[in-house]
Amino acid sequence: MTDRTHDTKEFAGKVAIVTGAASGIGAAVAELLAAGGASVLVADHDAEGANAVAERIAKTGGAALAHRVDVSDPTAVKAMVDAAVERFGGLHLAVNNAGIGGALAPLADQPLDAWHRVIAVNLNSVFYSMRYEIPAMLAAGGGAIVNMASILGSVGTPNSSAYVAAKHGVVGMTKSAAAEYAKQGIRINSVGPAYIDTPLLNVLDAATKEYLVGLHPVGRLGRAKEVAELTAFLLSDRASFITGSYHLVDGGYTAL
Ligand code: NAD
Repeated sequence: MTDRTHDTKEFAGKVAIVTGAASGIGAAVAELLAAGGASVLVADHDAEGANAVAERIAKTGGAALAHRVDVSDPTAVKAMVDAAVERFGGLHLAVNNAGIGGALAPLADQPLDAWHRVIAVNLNSVFYSMRYEIPAMLAAGGGAIVNMASILGSVGTPNSSAYVAAKHGVVGMTKSAAAEYAKQGIRINSVGPAYIDTPLLNVLDAATKEYLVGLHPVGRLGRAKEVAELTAFLLSDRASFITGSYHLVDGGYTAL
């Protein structure tokens, strides 16, 4: 497969924030945007992991700065946006991607603190991020945002009610925000990956992973790079008429 983004540098002159960029999907997105010429704030609460990704980007000639953030803390999220603007001179692109799996239990057995943590990290964080990213993008003359949802933003699964509620919330919030800022040149979309082979799935045993493989008509789990490709497309000018919508990258999972 030829890699268009590498060839065209279509993000040259753009500044991007990627949250949860120390690992998995976020790291793949940060690397792809940087390869396309963007200056990337590699934001994560895992400072060591964020540094490693920023160093990898720098080694390939890209521009990146690691930034430690807890996306469930609005003050820290504001500081993250300020850091991108101060370091790189503005903000044009954002991928609100940081997330956690949460406790696996039927709803009536969900510990209250586990519910609140998943909602804080997977849903409130997307509100905080857009709350501060949007004014910075308006100041820069426009931009594009991708919020990382999941197939579980449109269908359910047992034992993950908080995660499913948060991801449905991300899909809905994306639609409202997109309608509010479309005329001001900010496009906002959500992405719905099926099961992607990243450290997020490390809690699952081999038999469960094998079962999950069987739920994807393509017969395998997805790769972080495959989610990054869709995300980069939605952020690019090639997607100039796409806003407020939810885009699956799911190996056919939701087709069944
Ligand atoms: P991952 O665990 O590999 O990466 C998640 C990153 O988010 C980690 O680097 C982690 O340190 C960071 N993070 C977690 N909590 C944070 C916080 N409070 N503040 C800042 N950073 C924080 O997982 P991934 O699979 O790459 O997941 C990325 C996103 O994709 C998540 O929103 C996840 O829900 C979503 N997603 C993943 C899958 C999958 O199967 N892997 C499927 C659909 C959607």
